[in-house]
Amino acid sequence: MTGLRPARLDAVVALGAHCDDLAIGAGGTLLTLCAGRPGLRVDALVLSGGGTGREDEERAALAAFCPRADLAVTVLKLPDGRLPAHWDEAKNALEDLRARTAPDLILAPWQGDAHQDHRGLAELVPTVWRGCLALGYEIVKWDGDLGRPSVYQPLDPETAEAKVRLLQEHYPSQRHRPWYDRETFLGLARVRGVECGARYAEAFHTNKIVIDLASGG
Ligand SMILES: [Zn+2]
Repeated sequence: MTGLRPARLDAVVALGAHCDDLAIGAGGTLLTLCAGRPGLRVDALVLSGGGTGREDEERAALAAFCPRADLAVTVLKLPDGRLPAHWDEAKNALEDLRARTAPDLILAPWQGDAHQDHRGLAELVPTVWRGCLALGYEIVKWDGDLGRPSVYQPLDPETAEAKVRLLQEHYPSQRHRPWYDRETFLGLARVRGVECGARYAEAFHTNKIVIDLASGG
């Protein structure tokens, strides 16, 4: 299948409700993006975990997932599981980010995610950004909310392995979770790979893609 390439990809906004969401949902894509684009601007905003050990984990992890990028990380202190009650704070944070960035791509949760914080953040994205490709990543969980994604980023086996290794290395606070293991992350990546004719992949949902089929001039 022909892959669509954006005409320009110099800046990425990466959004997560919690520390580790971005790495789980789009870690392989971040590695892939940054591998071929030294100096890529990545503005990451995480809504919760600020001022705790989880912020330290997140900063180290994102530095590893975005090698050689021009990376800026903001971790806020919204309480976990309470995004609907902190809607204005979250929206203001996104609007602040919009004012100081010009992304060519936004990575965020998707609107079908069963976790209210993920879903709330996903629903805020199109209210803040228009005219920018926004891809909603998936996070496997107890709720069983995996959907039918339509956008795939194939991952070469080295990148898929690197993602799993970095997830294990950088988030010791999550290792006790029974689902937080190599099989979970590699298993979903393998399934998404099957769906797009690759060994491994990360998959995304999108509300809208505008294409340009005019011949290049
Ligand atoms: Zn989360």
